[in-house]
Amino acid sequence: MNKEVKMNVYRFDPNKDKEGKFQEFTVPVKEGMVVLDAVHYIENNMDPTLGVRWNCKAARCGSCAAEINGKPSLMCKTRVDSLGDKIHVAPMKAFPIVKDLVTDVSRNWEIARKIPEFTPKKGLKEPWQIAEIDVSRSREFRNCIECFLCQDVCHVIREHDKDYIGPRFMVKAASLDTHPLDSINRSKFLHEEGGAGYCNITKCCQSVCPEHIAITDNAIIPEKESIVDSYYDPVTMLFKKIRGKHGQ
Ligand code: SF4
Ligand code: SF4
Repeated sequence: MNKEVKMNVYRFDPNKDKEGKFQEFTVPVKEGMVVLDAVHYIENNMDPTLGVRWNCKAARCGSCAAEINGKPSLMCKTRVDSLGDKIHVAPMKAFPIVKDLVTDVSRNWEIARKIPEFTPKKGLKEPWQIAEIDVSRSREFRNCIECFLCQDVCHVIREHDKDYIGPRFMVKAASLDTHPLDSINRSKFLHEEGGAGYCNITKCCQSVCPEHIAITDNAIIPEKESIVDSYYDPVTMLFKKIRGKHGQ
């Protein structure tokens, strides 16, 4: 184990600086140290003005999402001894910077509000009862901690900012669509407003998810298949023509 590590931390204050730059700090390494510990060491011992957002330090809140040596990762879950003796820590590139490592992820909350909400089937008797086997399909999606690392790595979000809701919200839609008591079809929303067609299934989002959610395999691909069924399947199209709406 190295005794110390060079931490190159991105610094940028939009209220003062024209552009950001990396600043190097030398930090003593302790057994089991994670990148967030090293950033806290800098904040507590070298520069208290360093901007960093964190909360649980247990990979449950998603607050300390950043780019570590170029890879979207949680600072609290990334061991210093897994990275060599020089570490670069930068804020998520897909979102505006508030200060240093802190980004403004509020656009994600705006997208969240647009997803058609859980709509239970009519006439359900209370208490609602769901068989365990029916719960299991959506359980994986409910593990999402909303770190937005998948949004950060998605090239569509980076390039077409306003057109695609992003992988986190494809997961959210899949979570609702696979709920056994939900009654609506979100294909129309995902196709016409959500920009699902922009996703070209590169799986970059899936590769960075700290909860190991199979974002593309289990959420995006089935949602895309559902869109194809709703819009282009001749039987469904005839059915919709008769009912006059998109499969609802
Ligand atoms: S698979 Fe789709 S959502 Fe995931 S990173 Fe690639 S384009 Fe974005
Ligand atoms: S799907 Fe995974 S990467 Fe995306 S926000 Fe949720 S936990 Fe984070």
